[in-house]
Amino acid sequence: MNSSQFPKSHVILSIVLGLSLCWFVIAKFSGDPDDDRFTTETVLLDLPTVDEINRQALLPGAATASQNPAPTPRAVTNTTTKKVSVAPGDNLALLFKKHGLSPQELHRLVTTEPLGSRLKEIFPGHELRFTVDDANTLVKLEYSPGPLEVLEFTRVGDGYEGVEVVAEPERVTAYKHATIDHSMFIASQRAGLDDSLTMRLAQIFQWDIDFVLDIRAGDEFYVLFEELYLVDRFIGYGKILAAEFINQGDSYRAVLYTDTKLDESYYDPSGHSMRKAFLRAPLSFTRISSNFNLRRTHPLWKRTMPHRGIDYVAPRGTPILAAGSGKILKATRSQANGNFVVIRHGEQFVTKYLHLSKFARGVRSNARVEQGQTIGYVGATGWATAPHLHYEFLVNGVHRNPRTVKLPDADPVPESEIDRFSQLSIPRLALLDNYKQQIQLALGQ
Ligand SMILES: [Zn+2]
Repeated sequence: MNSSQFPKSHVILSIVLGLSLCWFVIAKFSGDPDDDRFTTETVLLDLPTVDEINRQALLPGAATASQNPAPTPRAVTNTTTKKVSVAPGDNLALLFKKHGLSPQELHRLVTTEPLGSRLKEIFPGHELRFTVDDANTLVKLEYSPGPLEVLEFTRVGDGYEGVEVVAEPERVTAYKHATIDHSMFIASQRAGLDDSLTMRLAQIFQWDIDFVLDIRAGDEFYVLFEELYLVDRFIGYGKILAAEFINQGDSYRAVLYTDTKLDESYYDPSGHSMRKAFLRAPLSFTRISSNFNLRRTHPLWKRTMPHRGIDYVAPRGTPILAAGSGKILKATRSQANGNFVVIRHGEQFVTKYLHLSKFARGVRSNARVEQGQTIGYVGATGWATAPHLHYEFLVNGVHRNPRTVKLPDADPVPESEIDRFSQLSIPRLALLDNYKQQIQLALGQ
């Protein structure tokens, strides 16, 4: 390894180590000539604190003697490391107090550029490691915001120097297969799949399959995904690399492709996007209470009152997502609609979202929104008796049924990248097929 690859802090640490060694050797042989069992190893093990080194290095000897009693050079400075798991209700000030560390110390740490401010993100479950010397001076603070990341703050003089250490997990390819009897989540759990992964699987196929309404007994899926390990310990799931979902006898296949701009998306084997330019339903709903019907007879008023959208029932507060990317035309309130949002998507398409309990932050006229961005929350404002979203989809100014309208495709793999796409996707799909054959053999199909 080339020394120029060392992070700055390592260089500083080496300088500090070098300094301490000089000081230590001088102190050792001038003050305590009897001790001849001196080796490099013991120096490294019994390092004085960085604080002491700095005091020693910065203060001239004469001044030291007159100002303070000179710190007796100690052959052994013990440091203690305490591991602290952040509990609910904890904050840094509280934890510092608990460990007898001063608010000034905390202030120095959180104002350490550029990483100090990240200490304010501590959250229950995160881990902190305090290393203090005999005098309870903080020598090092390590903070792990996640299983792969450690922020290390090492004392340098009166301040700290922070470095970020990110571990690269080992990625192991894994496979699962499940056959659904009635619930996709139950089938997935039985197959040993985590709910978050099942959710991501459903998101890949959401444009082709409605996971609330279309799932039937006998539907099945095969999924190729990554498991992440750190020092042989399972720490979570990585990406879904490829998957096949068989819904009511129809097979849908998807493969992950990272394009040359490093955007990741799922495509079918021929390079068409799995996504459409619009979400079929702009929220996670429990049922439909009223369908699109232009000739509906109103139950109370007994006359034809068209229902130009779909009413999706969901608990109050459920996030409502922009069905497609576009520009907000209106985010306002009326007596009938309650809080509502209208989005224009290019020249042809407009979507409307009614009865919101409230708008999401930043949602206002002329704001740009991306597909899947939260624009508001389910409520029952306006003429609504229970929490639901009334959703409308207009093509060239004409109301269409959001459940059945043909949605435009998202962009396919660019022509210029088709060869690259094939090179990356063919092995993944082959692995998925190989696995599928083994399963079918095992099941005697
Ligand atoms: Zn409605």
